[in-house]
Amino acid sequence: MAGMEETVFHKIIRREIPAEIIYEDAETLAFLDIQPMNPGHTLVVPKKFAKSIFDIDANAFAALMRAAHKLAPVIKDAVGADGINIGMNNSPAAGQVVFYAHVHVMPRFLNDGYELWHGKNYPEGEAAKIAEKIRAKLG
Ligand code: 5GP
Repeated sequence: MAGMEETVFHKIIRREIPAEIIYEDAETLAFLDIQPMNPGHTLVVPKKFAKSIFDIDANAFAALMRAAHKLAPVIKDAVGADGINIGMNNSPAAGQVVFYAHVHVMPRFLNDGYELWHGKNYPEGEAAKIAEKIRAKLG
């Protein structure tokens, strides 16, 4: 079925391939990213499959965020990090590589060399137009 392709995260959840699992609750599983941007980089996944933010239901997403909220300070302390980024890549254009919804909990260290992307200014009048388009869709 389209969009239901098996991923490595399905296998990790079923314990068919190894992973450093650090946390589990009824709805989520959290394990270390195999290629961390920094030590302690963790992925939180829903036990019930969703591909991305676009098909995960609100409760399952809230459960991911609850788990990330619980884990962030614990991971920060455990690895002695100075900060944490929370991220989610949705669709290839946004850098998603594994098509099983997941939230990144990424420890950051002062001067670790990573830069966040830089914003660019709206042309005159464009912000108001974009905001209006979004508000219209929200109804
Ligand atoms: P994204 O899809 O958000 O770009 O990132 C997928 C993440 O999954 C990457 O950071 C990558 O290192 C991680 N990853 C890919 N395959 C595996 C795996 O088999 N095990 C674990 N633990 N992480 C993986």
